[in-house]
Amino acid sequence: MRPLIVIGNWKLNGSLARNQDWVKAVAHGMESGIPSGRKFAVCPPFPYLQQCAQLIKEHSLAFLNLGAQDASAHSSGAYTGEVSASMLTELGCTYVIVGHSERRLLHHEIDEVGAAKALQVLDHGMTPVICVGETADERNSGRAEAIVCGQVAKQVNVLQDRLADCLIAYEPVWAIGTGKVASAQVAQDMHRAIRLRLAEFDEDVASHVGILYGGSVKPDNAIELFAMPDIDGGLVGGASLNPQEFLAICQA
Ligand code: PEP
Repeated sequence: MRPLIVIGNWKLNGSLARNQDWVKAVAHGMESGIPSGRKFAVCPPFPYLQQCAQLIKEHSLAFLNLGAQDASAHSSGAYTGEVSASMLTELGCTYVIVGHSERRLLHHEIDEVGAAKALQVLDHGMTPVICVGETADERNSGRAEAIVCGQVAKQVNVLQDRLADCLIAYEPVWAIGTGKVASAQVAQDMHRAIRLRLAEFDEDVASHVGILYGGSVKPDNAIELFAMPDIDGGLVGGASLNPQEFLAICQA
């Protein structure tokens, strides 16, 4: 049985004071109980990882894991501005998002770069959250499944059976930060297609890999999305900034 996983992606948001309030509010909200059989994580910007790790410890939030929004494809050297997987392990990260559509769009990252980053993350004992998804044009021209399964196939080529230790996040680009959530059935159909593509490589890997949905997840649509058989949780951007909304999604 795959656990339900909710991961918050703060993107380029937060401040020392705001992070403190967020952790305090989540700690307070979880006092009444933590849903069992689920996993939760939050991915702040790099400079706040150490502060958030400390706050999670201070508030005894053992159920809340720490994640990063990216990692370098390299282990060390002349790569100004990059952060390596070994540094993220030292800071207590468990999950690392790779290949997010904003990285693809704004930083021209291709699937192979995402796969190289995922390898670094795996080599340092963390779980990569590999993002895939189609644009509005690709969906409107009937190519959504081919595009997404093509992205998955590139990960399979590089990662092979190490994919069993990864998470995949299906994030339709047209749904990210737009308020246009994919219907639960549209998301389920794509999650099924991804799992079938993985099964062509290895049925065991396909049945074990968690596939999260991302794209305008909110408390009011999370219940229906998470009830779908191939949706194993959510990668949540905007709504994760509000502790009450994040809590409601974790409890959905
Ligand atoms: C994301 O950043 O991965 C994301 C899904 O954002 P949002 O929830 O804001 O659409």
